Amino acid sequence: MKYVSTRGRAPALAFDEALLDGLAPDGGLYIPEQWPQFSADDIAALEGLSYAEIATRIMSPFIGDSLPADDFAAMVDEVYGAKQNIFAHPDITPLVQIGDNEWLLELFHGPTLAFKDVALQLIGRLFDYVLERRGGRVTIIGATSGDTGSAAIEACRDRDNIDIFMLHPKGRVSEVQRRQMTTVMADNVHNIAIEGTFDDCQALLKAAFGDVAFRDEMALSAVNSINWARVMAQTVYYFVAAVALGAPRQSVAFAVPSGNFGNVFAGFVAHRMGLDIKRLVVATNSNDILARFFDSGRYETATVTPTVSPSMDIQVSSNFERLLYDLYDHDGNAVSRLLGELADQGGFAVDDARLARARALFTGYRLDDAATEETIALLHRDNGMTIDPHTAIGVAAGRACRPDQAVPMIALGCAHPAKFPDVVARATGTRPPLPPQLADLYDRPETCEVLPNDLSAVQDFIRGKGTAKTTGS
Ligand SMILES: *Cc1c(COP(=O)(O)O)cnc(C)c1O
Repeated sequence: MKYVSTRGRAPALAFDEALLDGLAPDGGLYIPEQWPQFSADDIAALEGLSYAEIATRIMSPFIGDSLPADDFAAMVDEVYGAKQNIFAHPDITPLVQIGDNEWLLELFHGPTLAFKDVALQLIGRLFDYVLERRGGRVTIIGATSGDTGSAAIEACRDRDNIDIFMLHPKGRVSEVQRRQMTTVMADNVHNIAIEGTFDDCQALLKAAFGDVAFRDEMALSAVNSINWARVMAQTVYYFVAAVALGAPRQSVAFAVPSGNFGNVFAGFVAHRMGLDIKRLVVATNSNDILARFFDSGRYETATVTPTVSPSMDIQVSSNFERLLYDLYDHDGNAVSRLLGELADQGGFAVDDARLARARALFTGYRLDDAATEETIALLHRDNGMTIDPHTAIGVAAGRACRPDQAVPMIALGCAHPAKFPDVVARATGTRPPLPPQLADLYDRPETCEVLPNDLSAVQDFIRGKGTAKTTGS
């Protein structure tokens, strides 16, 4: 299996190379040259298998011969298998019925209580394994407004060949979010509180990567949402849920709370691989660039509005480029041209035929904050369930866009309610408690370096800690 760039001007790579590189040198995103195919018989054979077994079968064609099959299966088993102690549920991603032929796929039982753990726990180990074989190390740096940094930290902690430095704006992330990052006591984890805003953190990150000498010296890398391996690992739970509800005999539909289009794109991949998905509902908050696209065919940036579902507060959706590549029949030049228009003019449009093709599978749906809180209250009242605001957007969108009552609608539960306690308490009258594995979060000691909003201060800190690692301290 080879990986090509969505902009068509980068050499094709094997899985392990695409994993480490993340972004292609032409600015594009890596995507498999062709989709592995699972026949109805192949899918029927998944019935009764464990999450780990299904994961190995679904992902192996993407790995190809770039890693030894036994080693890959062992890694998958370590993360998702019967002896794992990473996820707080033996099914990894349990399905819970919430209505008539209506289901919630709970993706939030990982260490940081959000769906990103499902893929990142594997990605951290894959990185480490590939680096070990090559005799290399990397320095991962990231910037977070609070929601995604902890998942990356948990994925990289205690990995031998990775140092991770995570920047967050000092005093501007919630206490739960800060503590989920700063209470991780591992030699290779470094939290940095920047005296500035999230935009300052992102600018520092960009500048650090833009400093080629520094980038090479420290072997900088990222595990952000454009990494192909994350999409691959997310494809697994679409198969797991569909098979549990009767695939391949029964078709299914999914409603996916969406920001960067990574999670729902994994559903698209499952569809392309042969899973009978009747509909993918792309659920957004007021930052609705995706919902507007599926309505109108026009993809146009707007300013970001803060909402009660902050993990979906985005201006553009980075993984959307992978869908464009498909809609434009793998024409990297066409994709480059559209993204050029996006950069120069703030938007672009696709023609009616391509929009119709996209709409044959995808429906966009948008929910504002008031409706999000109403949905949290509704599930609490009718089902006795407490759900988080991102999940609520998925549930409401699924209800509004059901293709057919006979087709199970599966909403993706993207975060644990305790991760967003204020809005949940407002909607339900009860503050959701942290789950047992995090119950002592407020008692754990924290470690964090406070630095000014200054590139050389950040670089000096990273160099100091990085050097300390390589000299064996
Ligand atoms: C990241 C995230 C999303 C958005 O997922 P994308 O893959 O970026 O579309 C939704 N909800 C939660 C809780 C998240 O952490």
